[in-house]
Amino acid sequence: MKKLLRDLSYLSELRDRQAMDFALVKLIGQSDLWCLSAVRLLRAVGPESDQHWVTLGELDRQHSAPQRDQFWFDVSTLPRLSDFAQREAVIVTESVVRSGHGPFTTIFPIDTQASVCSLLEVESDERVSVDTEALIDSVLHLYENLQGLLDYGERDPLTELLNRKTFDGAFLRAAQTQDAAATLGHPDRRNALTAASYWLAVIDIDHFKHVNDNFGHLIGDEVLLLLARQMRNNFRFHDQLYRFGGEEFVVLMRCTDHQDALAALERFRCQIAQHAFPQVGHITISIGVAPLRDNDTPSGAFDRADKAVYYANSHGRNQTCSFTLLVEAGELAETSDGAQEVDFF
Ligand code: GH3
Ligand code: MG
Ligand code: MG
Repeated sequence: MKKLLRDLSYLSELRDRQAMDFALVKLIGQSDLWCLSAVRLLRAVGPESDQHWVTLGELDRQHSAPQRDQFWFDVSTLPRLSDFAQREAVIVTESVVRSGHGPFTTIFPIDTQASVCSLLEVESDERVSVDTEALIDSVLHLYENLQGLLDYGERDPLTELLNRKTFDGAFLRAAQTQDAAATLGHPDRRNALTAASYWLAVIDIDHFKHVNDNFGHLIGDEVLLLLARQMRNNFRFHDQLYRFGGEEFVVLMRCTDHQDALAALERFRCQIAQHAFPQVGHITISIGVAPLRDNDTPSGAFDRADKAVYYANSHGRNQTCSFTLLVEAGELAETSDGAQEVDFF
């Protein structure tokens, strides 16, 4: 029990989500109060119609340290949600599901954000006792509360997307990994780093003021919420989605090339243009995108994407504009030492 309290105290000190996931898996997998052969922290990701399981932390008899899937996997390569009936049952019933005749599997629901389905799966040679289940359940409640505290500081309460405060840190981490990711390759899914770079997109709803003026602020809020949901469905799990304020959204994307980034953004723009929002009907969005550069700064990259969205907005709206292509086409100019001095012709 002493070890459990020490581990809980350590867990509650953490502010990094990955570290917290690993600490949870270790706390439960290496406890001296029960004996488990494997522990898995899992999350359902991808569009509602085609969800897959990503492993956020896993500990078994072969590993002394937790393992996880990398952030930039292709979701379609992960195990399908529908191939695991018991995990699905946990999500539907929101209660513990037990199965097996040794080895036994016990699956616990985890209740964090409303839009996220997570669970903890444990395997054991003996059936997990009622007392152990209750203890693991209490640990998971603490984990949910800690995640809630992190969300409170990092997420926009309306859309549950990341808020502007967290952008600089995520940007600098992405900029650091960009070079390393481009030079490595590995056949293992866990380490599937492919040549790729980061792109920053700014998304602005066209004439959003009209939505508020014509339908009221509450309906306006609903449009923001539904747009955020569509963003989560459209972009990949490893793309980081932000609401920067008002009707302005930002995506920090990891893509193989310029075409890949433009295709993902165009797909989203078309999806929004075709979607009928309740009461409001159809809305459109303007998008500006810019690649991250060597030694880039969050404000420098944002500035370039913002210039591109401003161009899209002032040249007919409902379109995606690339800073790079606009510079190549002579529509935007920049000085050779960066993007700080860009002017419209
Ligand atoms: P443009 O096509 O040029 O982008 O015009 P716009 O109307 O979309 O942009 P503008 O910047 O003129 O207006 C943004 C509007 O967004 C004004 C403001 O009332 C509304 N807004 C900002 N934050 C919120 C919010 O949290 N909820 C709602 N419902 N409206 C918001
Ligand atoms: Mg705006
Ligand atoms: Mg707007």
